[in-house]
Amino acid sequence: MSRRQAARPAGHDDGVRADALARRFTEVYGRAPDGVWRAPGRVNLIGEHTDYNDGYVLPFAIDRSALVAVRLRRPDEVVRDGDGAAAASDVVDLASTYDPDGSGLSRARFRVPGLAPGAVAGWGAYPAGVVHVLGSLDGVEVPGVELLLDSTVPVGAGLSSSHALEVATIVALDDLLGLGLERPAMARLTQRAENEFVGAPTGIMDQSASLLGRAGAALFLDCRTQESELVPLPVAEHGLTVLVVDTGVAHSHADGGYGARRASCERGAAALGVASLRDVPEQADLSALDGETVRRVRHVLSENRRVLEAVERLRAGDVRGVGNLLAASHASLRDDYEVSCPELDLAVDTALAAGAVGARMTGGGFGGSAIALVPAAQGEQVRSAVAEAFAAGGHRAPDVFAVVPGEGAGRVR
Ligand code: ADP
Ligand code: MG
Repeated sequence: MSRRQAARPAGHDDGVRADALARRFTEVYGRAPDGVWRAPGRVNLIGEHTDYNDGYVLPFAIDRSALVAVRLRRPDEVVRDGDGAAAASDVVDLASTYDPDGSGLSRARFRVPGLAPGAVAGWGAYPAGVVHVLGSLDGVEVPGVELLLDSTVPVGAGLSSSHALEVATIVALDDLLGLGLERPAMARLTQRAENEFVGAPTGIMDQSASLLGRAGAALFLDCRTQESELVPLPVAEHGLTVLVVDTGVAHSHADGGYGARRASCERGAAALGVASLRDVPEQADLSALDGETVRRVRHVLSENRRVLEAVERLRAGDVRGVGNLLAASHASLRDDYEVSCPELDLAVDTALAAGAVGARMTGGGFGGSAIALVPAAQGEQVRSAVAEAFAAGGHRAPDVFAVVPGEGAGRVR
């Protein structure tokens, strides 16, 4: 998928978008939806590659979101397949306005009974995974569904468009089926959908940010206990803005780099005799480890410390004080964890030189996006400096945009 088109600068007002989506739903499926739900993407402020080490993360939900309009099929409903033959009412139809090929809507269809990993390919696997895990709960039967998705979270930029899609689906189905699931339970269920159905070994952070985030706050999450706390992140009040630099360089969790980093961490923990790197004491002796493992372990230990420090500073109202922690995080990801890339380094270095108080890559790395904490007055300067540096370096023009710590997932209409 080429990914530029998912970002739609126009129409960020969720109420307006939801009304338009409901109308489009009615055109596509011939009946109105039961409702429209939204789930935001997220930016991880700090705490990278700590999640699967039982560590700390500090993401925030952003003002870009996936909207889903959904209608549950009625038990007596007759669904026609492509040939006009009658099929059962347990058919799930999916459509997305994300249309990189320009062929209209991107669509998928599957049946709920017998739904198993591998049965749905492409983006449909995310909502299908959610249907699958909900169906595995005691006493829950998911009927056929019609769903139309429209997302302003850019795809593949490291802002978790995939989790926004999963979370929007689970909040919609929880609501429509009256399941009464708690938010942390929804986070665990979407993690299962991703791990067991989509087949991506991801943690709990992204869904938690999307489900538990609040406007003007970041979510301090302990990935071991799954305890979380909202920490104030009033960027605008402090004359700051958060810029995202989407490098346009494709990242992929499925590729070897992510798995290799996880394996290094497991090796390090085993060699140090602990269950996970979370348990390594501050002054641990790393000399028995090989050089590469030392660097990987050192990143995770220092990054956990930086998250705790960032939380302290934010609790004390020192938003600017987080800046140098972001820069230190980037250096550690670049040098010790080795998950950056030239475009991310260029974005960070340029932003810092142009007046950002802090900047770092965000997300898994190997591409995706960088973030910069920038005095609002310097926003334009940073934007143009980054654009010029990319042009001078012969890189594709990055997409640079501001994000605001926004509300978590919920029903829009
Ligand atoms: P990200 O960092 O954006 O989460 P991923 O590679 O994890 O990147 O997820 C991107 C995938 O999520 C896409 O390839 C697609 O399968 C799915 N996806 C996200 N947003 C949409 C959308 N609006 N329409 C269809 N699929 C989407
Ligand atoms: Mg993703």
